[in-house]
Amino acid sequence: MQTLVRGSLLIAIVAAYAACGGGGSSATSPSTSGTTTSLSWPTCDYATATGASRCGCSVVAPFDVTTAGVELWPFGVHAQSGHTEGHRGLDFNATRAIPVVSPMDGVIYNIDNTQDSSGGLAAEYLLTGNTHFTTINMDCGLQVRFIPLTLEPGIVAGTRVARGQRIGTISEMVVRFGLVRWSTHFEMDARAPASDPALNAVCPADLFSSAEVSGLQQLLAGSVYPEKVPRTVDITCENGSRLSMTFPAEDKLCNPRLDATSRSRLAACLPSRASSIW
Ligand SMILES: [Zn+2]
Repeated sequence: MQTLVRGSLLIAIVAAYAACGGGGSSATSPSTSGTTTSLSWPTCDYATATGASRCGCSVVAPFDVTTAGVELWPFGVHAQSGHTEGHRGLDFNATRAIPVVSPMDGVIYNIDNTQDSSGGLAAEYLLTGNTHFTTINMDCGLQVRFIPLTLEPGIVAGTRVARGQRIGTISEMVVRFGLVRWSTHFEMDARAPASDPALNAVCPADLFSSAEVSGLQQLLAGSVYPEKVPRTVDITCENGSRLSMTFPAEDKLCNPRLDATSRSRLAACLPSRASSIW
């Protein structure tokens, strides 16, 4: 049953990314603040940031990592369906609405559910009231997304938020399989290098404190998902042929990219998505 729930969530996330152009982060005008901007965001080129600067980002985990009963779906995993982009964030799943804080200082950029043009997430979440796809532009140049987040009253596009400030809770899902679940997808995007656009998603755990990473690793150890073990996936290519791909165990908080050979095979199979293969 747990697997079914995760599979369902995964399909929803894949649909969301397909709907917004593969998860890219090019700026658009905020749709709910009534203002427009020509700012390009994110501005932090994380992949080429040197040393410990991390673009100057000081990040806290978006929830208390000692919270019991939270399951994680980690960064970088490739879904059994052949999700080529890898998982671009962390999913937090629980049986209740756990509080969420802003991981950095920034400004709410966009609270808007229209990027779910496929309707995939609307089918998964109770997208009513104050539950929204939420994007925050962080002062250090990263862009954070919660898909979705149930916002505190008064938090709207344009609201300044502080690192550690409570901004909402993870969101209730439509009841399926006899379970009541709350969940969110948390993602941090940097400016993508032109040579490798797939590198714009940053593994959040790279920026958390060692104590938070330790807490998340404990949660991960108790989490169940199909990608935790090696597996072979049969993928339908864009030309109709089939590709059998062997994926490694993806059991870390930050799972590494596929090796170059595997990425090349996937790119040949799915040329329209080649630039986003993780
Ligand atoms: Zn996710």
